[in-house]
Amino acid sequence: CGIVGYVGPQSALDVVMAGLKRLEYRGYDSAGVAVLADGGLAAAKKAGKLLNLEKELDGRPLPTGTTGIGHTRWATHGGPTDSNAHPHLDNAGRVAVVHNGIIENFALLRAELAERGHALGSETDTEVVAHLLAEEFSACADLAEAMRLVCRRLEGAFTLVAVHADEPDVVVGARRNSPLVVGVGEGEAFLASDVAAFIAHTRSAIELGQDQVVELRRDGVTVTGFDGRSADVRSYHVDWDASA
Ligand code: GLU
Repeated sequence: CGIVGYVGPQSALDVVMAGLKRLEYRGYDSAGVAVLADGGLAAAKKAGKLLNLEKELDGRPLPTGTTGIGHTRWATHGGPTDSNAHPHLDNAGRVAVVHNGIIENFALLRAELAERGHALGSETDTEVVAHLLAEEFSACADLAEAMRLVCRRLEGAFTLVAVHADEPDVVVGARRNSPLVVGVGEGEAFLASDVAAFIAHTRSAIELGQDQVVELRRDGVTVTGFDGRSADVRSYHVDWDASA
């Protein structure tokens, strides 16, 4: 339902949680975050309100990191439980992904992954993406390229945002039939399903086009099609009352 991603000098957890709060009005049944820190990946997720996630984080704080993603879920596949909440991780716990929309061919992909020895622990359509990204990343060591390769195999409507512990200063996003907006700041960058999540930080935005992948780094963003061709970016100024 709501997606936020961040890379920059600030605490990613703080930026992501504040962004998720700005998206609360859209409604959701669970929430979760993942942060890259100390060479690893740490995640927390809870069914229910953001308050439940905040309580979880109070009791089990995540290490401080400057790259992170967050999600508020509106369940379509699998009930609103802690384990079905996003982010979803691969078996090694190195990649985390959040998703809005529906992966129509997830059952087929799930069966293929199970055959290759992956253990899938949730009932969501989303989890397959984490496992597929891990497989592709192990071959190419490039999260944006892994995302392009995975997206070409997906059917349905999706906004996907992912991080990998082996690329600690990168957030990657992708979209098909579902919105994703990039916020470009000074030495920092944001990804969100809605500009409301980052207008407190920057008014410079890029609307991601259909079937495109964006790679976010502190010093800029790179947009390509799922086919790998570089894409034109249309940056615009968000003229919107931040207090609304
Ligand atoms: N289909 C996914 C799920 O049920 C994503 C739902 C959403 O858009 O929040 O977990």
